[in-house]
Amino acid sequence: MADYNVIVIGAGPAGYVAAIRCAQLGMTTACVDKWLTHDGKPSLGGTCLNVGCIPSKALLDSSHRYYFLQKHAALHGIQCEGLSIDVTAMQARKDEVVKTLTKGIAGLFKKNKITFVEGTARLGDNKQVEVTAHDGNTKILAADNIIIATGSVPAQIPVAPIDDELIVDSTGALAFDSVPKRLGVIGAGAIGLELGCVWSRLGSQVTILEALPDFMAMADRKIAAAAQRELKKQGLDLQLGANVTAATVANNEVTVSYQNKKGEQQLVVDKLIVAVGRKPNVEGLEADKTGIQINERGFIEVEGHCQTSMLGIYAIGDVIGGPMLAHKGSEEGVMVAERLVGQKSEMSYETIPWVIYTSPEIAWVGKTEEQLKATGVEYKVGQFPFAASGRARAHGDTSGMVRIIADAQTDRVLGVHIFGISASELITEAVVAMEFESSAEDLARTIHAHPTLSEALHEAALGVDGRMIHA
Ligand code: FAD
Ligand code: NAD
Repeated sequence: MADYNVIVIGAGPAGYVAAIRCAQLGMTTACVDKWLTHDGKPSLGGTCLNVGCIPSKALLDSSHRYYFLQKHAALHGIQCEGLSIDVTAMQARKDEVVKTLTKGIAGLFKKNKITFVEGTARLGDNKQVEVTAHDGNTKILAADNIIIATGSVPAQIPVAPIDDELIVDSTGALAFDSVPKRLGVIGAGAIGLELGCVWSRLGSQVTILEALPDFMAMADRKIAAAAQRELKKQGLDLQLGANVTAATVANNEVTVSYQNKKGEQQLVVDKLIVAVGRKPNVEGLEADKTGIQINERGFIEVEGHCQTSMLGIYAIGDVIGGPMLAHKGSEEGVMVAERLVGQKSEMSYETIPWVIYTSPEIAWVGKTEEQLKATGVEYKVGQFPFAASGRARAHGDTSGMVRIIADAQTDRVLGVHIFGISASELITEAVVAMEFESSAEDLARTIHAHPTLSEALHEAALGVDGRMIHA
């Protein structure tokens, strides 16, 4: 007989949410995870809580406050003579935020009667899982169903090998103990931009080398252009079309060689962050030996509802690919748990929001103009600048805009793209609207409180029909 109805492997945002939902639905549930803190204690929450979403946002917040006090406080009449940054204190606050939240997950496991099993899981036959704890002890558990949520790890490139001293990945870049004078970043994706911003705001001279010729190729072109201008204004040196050929360490500095359309270039920095994407983590799992299909890029292959090629074994989150986002993995976890008890839950892959936490933030959901053009869909656009928003002006943060793209025939909202203050929060209105298959007119007829930043969405919706009031 199985020990559990469900064993979840991995306690990141995909796995721990899946485990909680399984337990809520009455299934006996165990969750295995191998993550340990520096002092050897289990720490739940996976990449997201330990070395991802949460610590990066903690540092973004601290650095944003410092930057504001330095650059903008005087405008508000706030004098900050002798302002300085204590990186040790900033890091200690970040660590405390992480500790509180990871402990919170342990509390939720307890509350939901989920058995946490510390160690590395290896899949066996007949839905058995062998767990090897860090002290070397091994146990074998069996379940009716297994959910694999082993996540991802930073991708590396041979031309810039991580040494965890001068050349670091995102984990190293979250733990700098001082502000590097000169900082290089390879990759202008989410991590490169967010961590580049953290250290730039604290005084680093930051150069980001991006292989692609376009800035933020996935984003709406007008939003990307506005963001690029703003980040440049904030002091980030964005080098596009940069093909890195080598990174060598000598005399406590890194020399990065790269080629761009002007020819061979060199950049000398004190630290180099490699942020070129993440790769699925199936190490030690031996999933392939049980017959689970893994594709050529290392992702576990799944069908419609996260079912792997083995009956009763599911995979969710970063390890199956698609958007590598915490909220995508969590919702997959909920869907799988609910389907295990016969519910007909579905994932809305079309309405997954994206947010890049620069300042101001970049957020979007749905299609871009370019995607619609490629599929021949006719559309209308409403665009409203934050410069015309009373609330944004009161905040003193007026850069950016809201763009709403609607179907030209049906008026249905197909995409919403925001670059501006609090875009991460504003995008949720767009997600809800799209989830309910709203038209731009529905949004335009919805009363928005004044003065709020959400009025920019209201105005952009009016703009789809050419009737904005304030622009
Ligand atoms: P993970 O969070 O990677 O968790 C996998 C877990 O499985 C880990 O705890 C690991 O220890 C465990 N595990 C792996 N193999 C085994 C095994 N064999 N046995 C036992 N345990 C195992 N996403 C966002 O949505 N918003 C953000 O703002 C954001 N910011 C980020 C910032 C940074 C710097 C980084 C690196 C990532 C960020 N992400 C963000 C991405 C987000 O962290 C991931 O998409 C998310 O963590 C994936 O969740 P997951 O549960 O699939 O995997
Ligand atoms: P990414 O895929 O977002 O960006 C990687 C960037 O590096 C791309 O622009 C790519 O063109 C570039 N690149 C790749 N190889 C290169 C090379 N050799 N030289 C120069 N440039 C190169 O990956 P990331 O920024 O490492 O983030 C990893 C994952 O974590 C992403 O999937 C992202 O969704 C997730 N994440 C999300 C958030 C968020 O939601 N706010 C924040 C951080 C990370």
